[in-house]
Amino acid sequence: MPPKKRTSSVKVTVPKFTRQPQFKHKFGAHVGMAGGVFNSVTNAVNIGANSFGLFLKSPRRWVSPMIPDEDADKFKKLCKEHNFDPRTECLPHGSYFINLANPDEAKLKQSLDSFIDDLTRCEKLNIGLYNFHPGSSLGSDHKESLKRLAENINTAIEKTSFVKIVIENMAGHGNLIAGKLQDIADVIEMVDNKERVGVCIDTCHTFAAGYDLRTEDDWDKFWKEFESTIGFKMGISWFRMFQTISQ
Ligand SMILES: [Zn+2]
Repeated sequence: MPPKKRTSSVKVTVPKFTRQPQFKHKFGAHVGMAGGVFNSVTNAVNIGANSFGLFLKSPRRWVSPMIPDEDADKFKKLCKEHNFDPRTECLPHGSYFINLANPDEAKLKQSLDSFIDDLTRCEKLNIGLYNFHPGSSLGSDHKESLKRLAENINTAIEKTSFVKIVIENMAGHGNLIAGKLQDIADVIEMVDNKERVGVCIDTCHTFAAGYDLRTEDDWDKFWKEFESTIGFKMGISWFRMFQTISQ
């Protein structure tokens, strides 16, 4: 079978919302990349976004072909054309299978390979941030899992050059890591190059983890805890807001 043609470009339409790239707060959304990763830029323009999230490959498959050079060039060209800085205004979401805290050695290697592959894709696209789920202890010792996670982040940082690894807070059920902010703080503490790690706060996960956010006081309480555990010196690389609290 001939290879599938993958040059379909999304056209810039008249956006419903006008982009305001000068705004300090970079509101955006997760956009599709069907037809080629470069289409994510146009999809972001078409919704008036000042930033965007995307997948770099199918998040439900272990291995995918590398992004062709031509597609990467197109992505970078479109970012320039539409005034997106991919170093700070794109946040790809990592594959869901990745578990850098997996106690099984073979499975851990598979995760680490996929993780480094994701980071390599970011750097090919000149993307400066990468967000991932910190994984699960799968019933093994929690402290050891945090250590494993940090060690693997250190390895991934050594094997890449600039992309910042952004740890997402999780719902924290069962063996999941990072339901508590303290987990993220502990992992960051063990990362050698702290300039290469960041934090993403997902309000849906935050609420599900038991941090009530329904009133201004609850909201302030959460950020006070953030300040005393992780600290604002780390900076929040990304903030993901979901409509969690609908009753
Ligand atoms: Zn996520």
